[in-house]
Amino acid sequence: MVKSDPLVVVVGAGPAGMAAARTLVEGGLRPLVLDKQPAPGGRMWQQPAGSRQPCGLPGHDAETAERARKEFLDLAERIDWYPGTTVVDATRGRLWAMGPGGEVDETSWDALLVAAGALDRVVPLPGWTLPGVYTLGGAQTALKALGCAVGRRVGFLGTGPLLWLAAAQHLVAGVEVAVVADTSRWTGAMRALPDLLADRARLALGLRCLRMLRGAGVPIRRGIRAAAIEGGENVTGIALATRRGPRRFACDAVAIGVGLVPQTQLLDLLDAPFDLDAESGVWLPRADRAGRTPVEKVFVAGDGARPLGAAAAALSGERAALAILEDIGRPFDRDRAARLERDLERHVRFARGLARAFPFPAGLEAGIASDTVVCRCEGVAAGAITAAVRAFGCHEVNAVKALTRCGMGRCQGRLCGLAAARIAAVTAGVALAEAGRLRAQAPIEPLPARVRRTAPDAVA
Ligand SMILES: Cc1cc2nc3c(=O)[nH]c(=O)nc-3n(C[C@H](O)[C@H](O)[C@H](O)COP(=O)(O)OP(=O)(O)OC[C@H]3O[C@@H](n4cnc5c(N)ncnc54)[C@H](O)[C@@H]3O)c2cc1C
Repeated sequence: MVKSDPLVVVVGAGPAGMAAARTLVEGGLRPLVLDKQPAPGGRMWQQPAGSRQPCGLPGHDAETAERARKEFLDLAERIDWYPGTTVVDATRGRLWAMGPGGEVDETSWDALLVAAGALDRVVPLPGWTLPGVYTLGGAQTALKALGCAVGRRVGFLGTGPLLWLAAAQHLVAGVEVAVVADTSRWTGAMRALPDLLADRARLALGLRCLRMLRGAGVPIRRGIRAAAIEGGENVTGIALATRRGPRRFACDAVAIGVGLVPQTQLLDLLDAPFDLDAESGVWLPRADRAGRTPVEKVFVAGDGARPLGAAAAALSGERAALAILEDIGRPFDRDRAARLERDLERHVRFARGLARAFPFPAGLEAGIASDTVVCRCEGVAAGAITAAVRAFGCHEVNAVKALTRCGMGRCQGRLCGLAAARIAAVTAGVALAEAGRLRAQAPIEPLPARVRRTAPDAVA
């Protein structure tokens, strides 16, 4: 690297971060790539733990995953790659990251690409904090990375393509699937078909999952209006309110999820602006088609910008890297950039179809029972949020957090923030946007604290 080369830092080595790193190297730079995982690949191309063989589950293309990881590791001489390193804070021009040993180091950056991926989104339901309840991603990670299932008879509850994919993956792995309960209806999928045809391969995978589940005689319930997870020391079943009346399915574990939410905490610390996506109720970071945020030299790509899937993440990582090269005055291929943007359009269209086929169950979230726990870190129930909104006449979610401790725990509201905002908005009778979004606080991930023993005479 020439001494005066600008330092480009890439946070995340999933499909987006890996594609960006490769493009930056092609552009003559030596990026610094940080990922909290011990190996590259991100969520979709997660490597099996230890010596386990890659799994042959539907939707998990082990060959593509292996090729992408190998291509990235082959660049090892030309990038500064730090696995097992979590970025915990960022300001303009600087960031702080915790290494595998718990030590926190500071580095400067001239351009920053945040490719931090997404998280499962959940709607708090009665019983969702019982032992034996997992997010869809958690259940999938147990299967794909650790080779074990979260239960012997697992119920799948929520909506979205991941619900069906995760259920089919468990079926193939030999797990009994108690039920697939989806809040969406078949009619939505029909209306979404023209947009879903934008990615025939993914549509075909979805239909294959459905056929597999049907073929195996798995009970499928759509249009779920209400649901509760039952149990005591562990899950014993799912109770559903369907159009045909109440139904109960026995199971010893439940996987829940209603879509994905971008991980945007670092962008938030950098004062990047966000816009509310009215359909899903998710705040998305503002960025142009190339991934430039309005904050100078800060870029975003992949699911962390907007969840569009692994292929789109790789395209957007490559596009953002070209934008970085352009903005720092390096030669960049304008035609390649235009081609990438055209390809990305197709994924945006498919995502529009998915949003129509699997609409976010806003009614379920708005109608959370007052004794249902919303913030599981701090044990705050929905009733405490409504009581605070009524007593203090405030509906802004950060004020609600200060009053109730909702979102103040170790996950910093990643799981409960959206639900808390909707409950506050519904209670106050204002639009969701007016409840705002929980602000991130540094460190964005818990840091280990070491207690140093002080000799008694030193204290005296
Ligand atoms: C729970 C879950 C399950 C999914 N399952 C499927 C599936 O089965 N099939 C499918 O097609 N798609 C699935 N997806 C979507 C798919 O994973 C993504 O579309 C794709 O992986 C996005 O690539 P990405 O590079 O944007 O993010 P990711 O692949 O998520 O990579 C982001 C990387 O950033 C790292 N990171 C995040 N924050 C920090 C930080 N502060 N410091 C350091 N590193 C950080 C993470 O460790 C991760 O490796 C899933 C997504 C999620 C969230």
